[in-house]
Amino acid sequence: MSTVCAISTPNAVGGISVIRISGKDAIKIAEKIFVPFSKTPVSQMCGHTCTYGRVVYNERTIDDAVLTVFLEPKSYTGENVAEISCHGGIFVTKEVLRACIESGAEPAGPGEFTKRAFLNGKLSLTQAEAVMDIISAEGKQALSSANLAHEGILFKKIKSTADELVRILAELAAWVDYPEEDLPSVENETLKSSLSAAVSQLDKILCDYDSGLIFREGIDTAIVGRANVGKSSLMNMLLGFDRSIVTDVAGTTRDVIEESARLGEVVLKLSDTAGIRQTDDLVESMGVDLALKRLENARLIIAVFDASEELNSEDTELLDKISDKQSIIVLNKTDLQAKITPDNFKRYNKPVVMISAKEQKGKEELEKAVLSLFKLNNINSDATVFANERQKICVERAKNSLELALNALSLGETLDAVTVTISKACDHLLELTGEKATEAVVEQVFHNFCVGK
Ligand code: GDP
Repeated sequence: MSTVCAISTPNAVGGISVIRISGKDAIKIAEKIFVPFSKTPVSQMCGHTCTYGRVVYNERTIDDAVLTVFLEPKSYTGENVAEISCHGGIFVTKEVLRACIESGAEPAGPGEFTKRAFLNGKLSLTQAEAVMDIISAEGKQALSSANLAHEGILFKKIKSTADELVRILAELAAWVDYPEEDLPSVENETLKSSLSAAVSQLDKILCDYDSGLIFREGIDTAIVGRANVGKSSLMNMLLGFDRSIVTDVAGTTRDVIEESARLGEVVLKLSDTAGIRQTDDLVESMGVDLALKRLENARLIIAVFDASEELNSEDTELLDKISDKQSIIVLNKTDLQAKITPDNFKRYNKPVVMISAKEQKGKEELEKAVLSLFKLNNINSDATVFANERQKICVERAKNSLELALNALSLGETLDAVTVTISKACDHLLELTGEKATEAVVEQVFHNFCVGK
């Protein structure tokens, strides 16, 4: 495999930048461009040591820097690794990178270092994916789940199910080899219960997937309601100047700036606030088209009503429109004399939260309502590992195959047919862990990484 290099820190001005070189010739290349101030030459450095010196290329000093050396196999990638920490200017960093490339290293592709770690058996595929999740985690729950996955818990969970399937397959192979002996019914039952147990284990992972998505990506939320009920005030209360976070989700399917409000462990994505505010004006002057579209696409609707006024026809129309959406009814302006109470909303069968945006009251109640609406109350942050989309698809396929196998057993089909479907399920699980992943799958996983990781 070739020796590769990349800038591993962000492409921005900072205190320091790190240029990483990995491969058989990493130390040799580092030696060509790095002149230590100490007497020990780079080629004599032990693994896990660093030295201070100068990056010199074509007899020109580029920067003072620190060189850290890791020798194979004790490195992130499992290969020889040299890391140059230089001053964090964009130009100087690129000059160091250029010196590495001109000295024989090739530019690394996205996720190339982590891919090499996977190929060299340093990480399972799920652990490698967890590296990406750790980098992009926005909250405690997402980070703790990514850390658990990084420790290999998801791998172990899946592996234990896959091992069980392999055991069943071995047993079946024995039975298939002796077709003259009928499968005793008790063993048929044992087989069914082992398969059902595997299905339940996979089901649990699929259930957690949805919660994981919420913790990882937040909930697309639309705040709706007629004019002057306090939508903007609620938005401001949720964003609460010091707590608001702005995420620039570049490189995802939606290249938009989103304003996110953190409600405890959950992030509500109030997409494109400027647009929403503008829409409010449009609603008054032009109609409700844009608001309706937002209402259609959002995963959560917060419908705001003015508690100090009777419900009018516009309010009830809105209530009818959101009847089949996941929504929370928010009664605002509870600091004023109440004209309506939660009782007025009983027939809509939705959670009702009383707030006063003016007095900044009710945020905790709203958080509780969101958690309970999305069934996130009982998530145990210490034990839950969330799957990503790729992993979910593998689990779904494995589960479908096992259900087919169970069905085949019930219909009394041949053991050959049952064996084939169980073996397919097993393959899907091994694709998940990376033990039987095709090159295309591996490529796809690392394609989503940033260069330098
Ligand atoms: P929007 O049109 O739905 O976005 O409503 P605004 O947030 O612009 O609020 C309309 C009016 O109601 C403003 O004058 C706010 O100051 C007022 N308002 C908003 N929330 C409250 C509240 O909780 N209590 C009281 N008394 N007034 C509020």
